[in-house]
Amino acid sequence: SVPAAILSALSAAARGGVLFKGGAALETLAEVRAFAFDKTGTLTTGKAEVTGIHAEDEAAFLRKLGGLEAQSEHPIAEAIRRALSEQGLAAESVTEVQAHPSEGITGRDSVGMIWAGNPRMAARMGAPLPHLAAQDGAETLIWLGRGAQVLGAVTVADRPRESSRAALAALKARGMALALMTGDRRPVAERIGTELGLSGPEIHADLLPEDKVALVATLAGKAKVAFVGDGVNDAAALARADVGIAMGVAGSEVALQAADVALLSNEMGQLAKAHALAQRTARIIR
Ligand code: ADP
Ligand code: MG
Repeated sequence: SVPAAILSALSAAARGGVLFKGGAALETLAEVRAFAFDKTGTLTTGKAEVTGIHAEDEAAFLRKLGGLEAQSEHPIAEAIRRALSEQGLAAESVTEVQAHPSEGITGRDSVGMIWAGNPRMAARMGAPLPHLAAQDGAETLIWLGRGAQVLGAVTVADRPRESSRAALAALKARGMALALMTGDRRPVAERIGTELGLSGPEIHADLLPEDKVALVATLAGKAKVAFVGDGVNDAAALARADVGIAMGVAGSEVALQAADVALLSNEMGQLAKAHALAQRTARIIR
């Protein structure tokens, strides 16, 4: 049977919006010494906004991009759908849509295959990228193309959750090692990371889902590690971590399933509180 101290800790945590799938996860959390975080939708709001459009015919470009992103649950896709509805545009019909985690998305319009995503997606399609001034900035750039031809790009910006910076400081004050792990490019990762008080070596960019797993494994070699994420691209890292923590409000179903803990509020400060609670409980039952 589960000790009373654990049961009461589990319900106290639940009142703060931290839902443990069982007592074992709470006991493991007490031993965690490192917290790794996904960026988009985890440390940031995931309510991204399209801030610039770089294309000859902006409306036609947006309609095509919107068609590709129509069904994706990625925060970038939501930003693009909002941009369409704000401009009163209807998405073009795109079929055979396939997501490529941490790279982008592919599909078929009336002419043939099209794609959208980051430079890695462009490289996969053999598409050389023109130079855009936006590339020197710290916003996420999403390219749209047909085969090796680039049709345009949008810049998308996201901002940290209000509770992220204080939450990271609280974890650091508890002696936790911290890491930011993102599939986004380095200038964006550095801007967000720096805003949140992280330093260079704590910031990891341009990661594929398997790169996040490898980094979690490296951290886990030293001490128990928690990974906090929201996306389909985080599922493997959530499963690999000693404690996987999924964002419960806007997180993907896959992430929630792979995790040991769901953060039902977006209050990142609950993480340090849950860690403290887990440690107090561990001292009681030992
Ligand atoms: P994070 O690790 O910060 O959550 P992701 O791994 O989900 O970020 O995404 C990394 C990058 O992959 C994005 O910045 C974007 O360039 C590209 N990408 C992922 N999904 C999509 C999508 N649906 N449409 C366009 N680009 C995408
Ligand atoms: Mg994410």
